[in-house]
Amino acid sequence: MHTIANGISGKCIIATDFISAGTILFTFDPAYSQNEQTYQTIQVGPNKHCLINSDLALLNHSCNPNLLVETTKGIVYTKKNVYCDEELTYFYPSTEWDMVRPFLCNCGSPACMQFIRGAYWTPLYILLDHYVNKHIADFILTEVKYASDLTTFLD
Ligand SMILES: [Zn+2]
Repeated sequence: MHTIANGISGKCIIATDFISAGTILFTFDPAYSQNEQTYQTIQVGPNKHCLINSDLALLNHSCNPNLLVETTKGIVYTKKNVYCDEELTYFYPSTEWDMVRPFLCNCGSPACMQFIRGAYWTPLYILLDHYVNKHIADFILTEVKYASDLTTFLD
């Protein structure tokens, strides 16, 4: 269904067949998490980062991704039909709040954000156009509550 290949940003995962929308491609155990965040972890909660020891660690980011990563169950789905030779990607800010290794994106999407640094650094109108995991939604709500507190802005 998929294989490892060398892409523009190093190793990546490529579809070897047509894969229909809603197919579960990978699973991981979100309980297998640590406090330390690295460029190879997927954030599964506040201060909880799942160390990925499978091909899943090679999934690159795209600003127009074809996969969704759901971190409470540890399931990676196709969000749309994927065709043979397409790179498999997901939207990193859907899991990462503040990334340890930000990078310049080469995804080529017209909606490319260019500098990928995590949800905290992503404009709200862009986040609202994507699926985000519950811990990211909770972080956003905390920020909004903080912004709606008058005392936050009193000098
Ligand atoms: Zn991009």
